[in-house]
Amino acid sequence: MSDRYFVDKPISIDRVTLSGPEAHHLIHVMRATPGTRVTLFDGAGDEFSAAVERVGRADVELSILARQSIDRELPFDLTLGVALPKGDRQKWLVEKAVELGVTRIVPLRTQRGVAQPVEQALVRLRRAVIEASKQCGRNRLLQIDEPRSWPDFVADAAGTSCRLVAHPAGERELRSVLVDLSGNVCLAIGPEGGFADEEVALAVAAGWHTVDLGPRILRVETAALFLVAVVASAQNT
Ligand code: SAH
Repeated sequence: MSDRYFVDKPISIDRVTLSGPEAHHLIHVMRATPGTRVTLFDGAGDEFSAAVERVGRADVELSILARQSIDRELPFDLTLGVALPKGDRQKWLVEKAVELGVTRIVPLRTQRGVAQPVEQALVRLRRAVIEASKQCGRNRLLQIDEPRSWPDFVADAAGTSCRLVAHPAGERELRSVLVDLSGNVCLAIGPEGGFADEEVALAVAAGWHTVDLGPRILRVETAALFLVAVVASAQNT
């Protein structure tokens, strides 16, 4: 895959100016000169081959040569509600979720969870989404929502056909859930302290299934990526 750069505005004309970290990388790391060919994407689904026209001190002008619709998305929407862990583990989880095709992450505020990211941390996570998308070839950006309370998240998901909450000793084994999987999917992973009984009861009353991920207790990010991966592979085939 050729070098990919993210443009933070919809690409609709045949000239684009890159600035910020994307321009910095192109100028100082790739040492672009007029004529250098790159791939651009704007997060809305298409990718563009482009040629460098002019290299400025902090920006680069490119001309668009061709537009292609290349779909590297999952064939369904996959929302991941997760009580995010702290620090590097949070960023790592977001990066892997991009690679596995997650459509949207909703940081969950739960009874036993740690504080969810504030605006500045969300900006950093959204930057991690761009970096991961450049690397893995995704042309649509995973969306990171503002943190949501558990009851609000459960209510928002009401229209989603498959809703699974990971809970040790959950009612269903993963295998039995995967058999009749279809349509869009909403997954929920609790905090290190686990979901409170009443939080699980709230989801079950709203029609969610609880799923057991096996006899070992997984960390938040392992549980999230494991469930995402099996759900994605079950519907990809
Ligand atoms: N002590 C907590 C464990 C929390 S692990 C408890 O007993 O509930 C963090 C989250 O990862 C859990 O809330 C759950 O959503 C998920 N998880 C981890 N291991 C799991 C397993 N074996 N089965 C189902 N969910 C699991």
